[in-house]
Amino acid sequence: MKEQIYTIPVNEIYDKKCACPLCELEERIERESVEYALGAAMMEPDFRVESNELGYCNRHYAKMFEKPNKLSLALVLDTHLIEVRKKLDKYKKSVNSLKSQKPGLFKKSSAYDISNSIYDFTDKLSHDCMICKKVNFTMERYIDVIMYMYFTKPEFKKKFDNSDGFCMEHFKAVCKMIPKCLSDKQAQEFIPVLFDRQVKKLDILQGDIHKFTLKFDYRNKDMPWGNAQDAPIRTIETLAGKIHKPEEK
Ligand SMILES: [Zn+2]
Ligand SMILES: [Zn+2]
Repeated sequence: MKEQIYTIPVNEIYDKKCACPLCELEERIERESVEYALGAAMMEPDFRVESNELGYCNRHYAKMFEKPNKLSLALVLDTHLIEVRKKLDKYKKSVNSLKSQKPGLFKKSSAYDISNSIYDFTDKLSHDCMICKKVNFTMERYIDVIMYMYFTKPEFKKKFDNSDGFCMEHFKAVCKMIPKCLSDKQAQEFIPVLFDRQVKKLDILQGDIHKFTLKFDYRNKDMPWGNAQDAPIRTIETLAGKIHKPEEK
């Protein structure tokens, strides 16, 4: 039995019409995680320790900065910066030793080794993020639950069989999870349905975006728009995932 915290939202999202069910779920979990990081998490020592250690990515700092609670944000930044400086201090000794080295006395590689390892540390720093970690973990659970319910809940199977596919990013994410979630026999049944839904989605989209281009020809000015009016944004969001606009206050 899969946990209801994952099955309920997945079931709900398949009851409504949306461009990509996983984009909707991702947006929700991301919003909740930002609120949690600046709210309840402030009282959770385990979360604080990990947050101090990992910090956040550019995108999630931006989302946190949009929130009115600047004290929570400043507390998070203050303690994370301590950790960053502590880690940077570890390179102090070897960096200072370069100053006293006579040129040519040591192999060039020792200076390069230092810059390479500082690069590795700073690269990790810009990629580590508490919210990305939480969102990625939860999205994998949702994808797992989609496939689990497909084979255990006939009602859900019916919904999925008639669903409108995913954005390409989430289509990719589902494909990645198939070997982890399904037996070979189940995968044989699931992949053709997944593929068929995706192809159908792109076929419809192509019709709409092409119609959008035709509307710019004056000879077609009386042709009804149909579903073509918002085709550019829908095409972008299908090809590259949802465009994140600043949250409304
Ligand atoms: Zn998506
Ligand atoms: Zn992030």
